[in-house]
Amino acid sequence: SKQSNATKVLMLPWLAQGHITPFLELAKKLSTKDFHIYLCSTPIILTSIHNRISKTQSLSVELVPLHLPPTSPELPPHHHTTNGLPPHLLPTLMNAFDSASPEFSKLVQTLRPDLVIYDFLQPWAPTIASEFNIPAVEFVTTGAAVVSFFSFLAFKKPDVELPFPELQPLLGSFRNAQPNRPVDDGGGGKQTPMLECMKKSSKMILFNTFRELEGKYLDYLPISIEKKIVPIGPLVHETDHEENKDSAIMQWLGTKDELSTVFVSFGSESFLSKEEREEIAHGLELSGVNFIWVVRLLVGERTEVEEALPVGFLERIGQRGLVVDSWAPQAQILAHSSTCGFVSHCGWNSILESLKFGVPIIAMPMKHDQPISGKVVEDVGVGVEVKRDENRKLNRENIAQVIRKVVKDESGVRVRSKARELSEIIRMKGEKAIHGLVQEFVQLCNQGKTI
Ligand code: UDP
Repeated sequence: SKQSNATKVLMLPWLAQGHITPFLELAKKLSTKDFHIYLCSTPIILTSIHNRISKTQSLSVELVPLHLPPTSPELPPHHHTTNGLPPHLLPTLMNAFDSASPEFSKLVQTLRPDLVIYDFLQPWAPTIASEFNIPAVEFVTTGAAVVSFFSFLAFKKPDVELPFPELQPLLGSFRNAQPNRPVDDGGGGKQTPMLECMKKSSKMILFNTFRELEGKYLDYLPISIEKKIVPIGPLVHETDHEENKDSAIMQWLGTKDELSTVFVSFGSESFLSKEEREEIAHGLELSGVNFIWVVRLLVGERTEVEEALPVGFLERIGQRGLVVDSWAPQAQILAHSSTCGFVSHCGWNSILESLKFGVPIIAMPMKHDQPISGKVVEDVGVGVEVKRDENRKLNRENIAQVIRKVVKDESGVRVRSKARELSEIIRMKGEKAIHGLVQEFVQLCNQGKTI
């Protein structure tokens, strides 16, 4: 059968939307190149992605459930991703995932893959693989800039200077944002899981990025990380014209003029404060531009979305704007010809999706890696950041002004053409990165067999 000749790859993404999507897209690509993929995640997550592979029956992607052991009663039942999870429960989810490692070990033993591909927070995955003499490669789903900062902090090579001194101020905020839970490194020292994951990767680390976007950061990485750095991006949510075509959102967008509407979304796990929500609402109103705004409320603070917005906001904007509760088909919206800009928190997938469709970015980074990704967006010239004041507060006039600049003013011409240029580059690259990766994997797995 196809399966018995194919190289078998077991993939284990972290439990967040922004990680599962690139892993799934990589799985789909590899499966067309004579790899048999086992994509391992919790049953709840697998159910949510099932229809994204079932349409293409020929794909050799098998979904393999990993059951999280019962955890502390704190974690709401069925909460298997960070989506909508209050931030204080993140450590609980991390612990639950970690304690599934014995089950992962059993899966490795049963499936006997030729290769394991794992994410950034689970150093036990490559450890288990090595117990079975199986190579394990890390796939970093964020950009290279973020990791170059992280590794600069973490590996602390005294003789290496940060190559981009202008970005030095970001180091402080990034240091505070890392999931920084120390673990024992076996030699009496403490390591973060992120660092352990990088160290344990067999020979190389994969990144969801590409040279034209992050060349200088990619070149910096090997100085601190002694692995081959393999950019395989952009791997983004593949859209399909038929999908969601009849949804109210796509119908609404279809009534708008070409290049007339901005999409406003802050990803699957960022929640605005009431104050931020107000400024953004007024900013959108002042901009005069059409918009689709995905408003997400924490599970605990859930009310009607309407109540979370300024009084009379929905009446005033009328047909000019659409407020969506919780979730919208982002990739389809970005691909639509009415869309002209993306007000984004600069999650890495969001940036890559925007560039794939040539949509310039109004950057409003919130936390974690986003401030650094926001700088990359500005640096490359595909977007403009909405600056915050010294207290990190947003300002409505400022928001409106940046939106207008990016989508319509003369001063934004270069940003718009740069975004289009990158989408053309992405189109031209096609499958080249994946071809390269296949070669790397074949070598790695053969070496594994001769050791
Ligand atoms: N997403 C979506 N609809 C939404 C919000 C998010 O489809 O309303 C998708 C988006 O297309 C992207 C992912 O969820 O693929 C979010 O990943 P990203 O890295 O941008 O941000 P995160 O959620 O990790 O902060």
